[in-house]
Parts: sequence; structure tokens; C-alpha cells
Amino acid sequence: MLADLPHASPDPLWSLISTFRGDPRPERMDLVVGMYRDETGTTPVLASVRKAELRLAEAGASKAYRALVGNATFNVGMAHLLLGQDPARLARQHTMQSVGGTGALRLLVELVARATPDATVWSSDPGYVNHRPLMTAPGLRFETYRLREEDTGFDLGAMLEDLAPARPGDVVILHGCCHNPTGIDMAADDWAEVSAFCARLRVIPLVDMAYQGFGDGMQADAAGLRRVVDENPTVLVAASCSKNMGLYCDRTGAAMVIGPDAAALVPVSPMPERIARASYSMPPEHGAAVAAALLAAPKGWLREVEAMRQRVAVLRAELGAALEAEGAGGGFASLGRQKGMFSLLPLGDRAMQRLREEHAIYGTDRGLINVVGLTSAQIAPLARALVRVAGS
Ligand code: PMP
Repeated sequence: MLADLPHASPDPLWSLISTFRGDPRPERMDLVVGMYRDETGTTPVLASVRKAELRLAEAGASKAYRALVGNATFNVGMAHLLLGQDPARLARQHTMQSVGGTGALRLLVELVARATPDATVWSSDPGYVNHRPLMTAPGLRFETYRLREEDTGFDLGAMLEDLAPARPGDVVILHGCCHNPTGIDMAADDWAEVSAFCARLRVIPLVDMAYQGFGDGMQADAAGLRRVVDENPTVLVAASCSKNMGLYCDRTGAAMVIGPDAAALVPVSPMPERIARASYSMPPEHGAAVAAALLAAPKGWLREVEAMRQRVAVLRAELGAALEAEGAGGGFASLGRQKGMFSLLPLGDRAMQRLREEHAIYGTDRGLINVVGLTSAQIAPLARALVRVAGS
């Protein structure tokens, strides 16, 4: 059997990370890994998380099996975080704890494949690198729509033009906020148009919410999603607690199915449980228990998310200013106004390779960098290096 396996090369992102770890140059910069880092370059355990963990450890609850849907308190808390307090909206959702945001995406696409195996999933180009493998895993077709910005902001025309051939029942992936990898977010008007477009074409929005709280604030970042939910009968949501709770390795997320009304969900809700049962059975409890505690008494946690959000915004502004001071061209001008951790630099693979080889600066070949991988001291040398390799 083993000899018959098709060749699979190692994941390029993780290969790059291991090259970085072996780089002996002290000035090396890791802008590859998609994790928040503080000014000391570490990915901290939030104080609110630490407090919840201590309380959980003291309570010493049994590690008995829980349920296929995971932690029920967490599921309710996530529904409120994503949808707000509106009872009509909340009545239309079924939420299930998942193995991170990735697990939520996989559960949801497996659900789609069981209902409409000939559906096409539409994702942005550029887009999150794992969307294609996730969406095609159960055999769905995969197409892309252009995601770009003009001088005036988000290019809605290009997106809707590319989505025009979508058929009823197709799925359109929308990033809830802080688009990965471009940092280009839709404005409220764009969300209104896209929401109306989905309703008119009867395509199903799948909102990938991996960075809630990192863009304009916890509630503001969910405004687009809530609009889509209010105007479309069926919506899917994949949420991650990796970034906004710092629970990366605890693999905590939620898969939400929204139907036209509560009654429509009754026959649907066992299906994601069946899918989970045939895969990993139950999701890990620890991260969800911590998240449930944060969601129940959110004050301290929200303060910490706001501090992370502001650090991202400050780093973006500082990098934008440093690039301007170095005389960088127009392609770099939008870095400062983009949202979230990621930006795509206007640099080709050769320039990214030169950054690695000549300056020990690691981004990915597509020009993707994690802005919050930087410390303030690294901004000036980064801006200098970017200007040197630009155009190569
Ligand atoms: N969607 C997007 C757009 C992401 O950027 C990420 C993580 N980088 C995920 C989903 C997956 O999140 P998780 O690590 O919680 O699986």
C-alpha cells in the first residue's frame, strides 16, 4: 500500500518555518507564521485565559467524554459573539464546537457536499491558502473571484463580475473581517451589495470569521456577517478562537448553520454530529471550557483583544510611515489602511527570496507577511530591505 501512495511534498509553509528556525542570523524576522506576537516577539497566553485555566484546574472537573456538539455553554456564547443579542437571529442558528476554525470549515463543507455534491465553492483570489484543499476534499468544485482594491477602496465590481456565473446552491466564502492574506476588507456598503447579491442568486454565504476583534472592534467586525444573516435564508459560519483568544494549539472554533427559521434546523442539526463522529468524534474540551468562561464574563478578555487590535494598527501605521520615509512606491501605500494581521506586499517570488537570503526576512513567496510578527525595532530595517528588493 505504502508504495502506491501518490507523492506529497511537505507543506511549503511549514518547510519555510523550519528553514527560519535553522537560520543562525540574529537579525532574522519571522513574518510567516500567522500568530499574534507582542513587543517581545512572543505569542502570549492572555491573562484572562490564564485566570480561567487556573479556575478550571482548581475545579478539577472529570475528563469524561462530553458530547458530539462539544461544550454547550461555549456554543451558546459563540452564537452571541457572532450574531449579537437579537433573538430572531439567534433562533435561526445551530452551533457546534469544532477543532479550530479549520475544523469548522471542514465540517461545513462536508455538510454542503452531502446536500449538493455538484455545488461549486467560490473563494477569493488572492485567498486563504487552505480554502482550496479544504473545499475540494469532499469533491466540490472550486472557483475564485477577484479580491482587490482600487484607490477608492474595495473593488466590488471585479468581485461581483466574477461571481455572476454562480448558480443557486453554490457557496461563496466571505472573510468576516481582516481578509487573509490581503488585509483588504469590505466596507458596510460593499457588504450590503454582496448580501443582496447572494440573496438574489440564491447562493449560500459561508462567512469565515478567524479574526473577530482584530479589525475595527469585536462588534463592528461582525456587522457584515449579521447583515448577511438578516438577508439570506441559509448562511454558514466558521469561527476561530485561535487569534482573538490566543487559543491556537487548543484548537477551538465553532461551526454554525443558519436556516430560514428554527423549524428548518431540526432535521439538519444531527448531520454535523454524524460527520464529526466519523472523523474525530468529540472536539477537545479544554479550549472550549476556557472560551466559555471568557464569553460568560468578557470584560477583561475584551480589554486584552482591544490592546492586541491597537498594536496591529500601530504597527501598520509605523510600517507605512517608515516605507514612506524610505521613498517606497505607491504599491506599499495601502499597507497602513489595511486591516488585521496580514498584508500582501507588491513583491514577486524573486524579491521575497532576496529578502530571505540577503536580509534574513521571512515572508511567503506570494509576498504575504504577518505585520504583527514585527517588533517596533524591526520596522526601520524591514522598510529599508523592502525598498532594496522591490522591482527584482
Ligand atoms: N480561516 C482563515 C481565513 C484563517 O486565516 C485561519 C487561520 N490562519 C483559519 C481559517 C483557521 O483557523 P484555526 O487556526 O483556528 O484552524
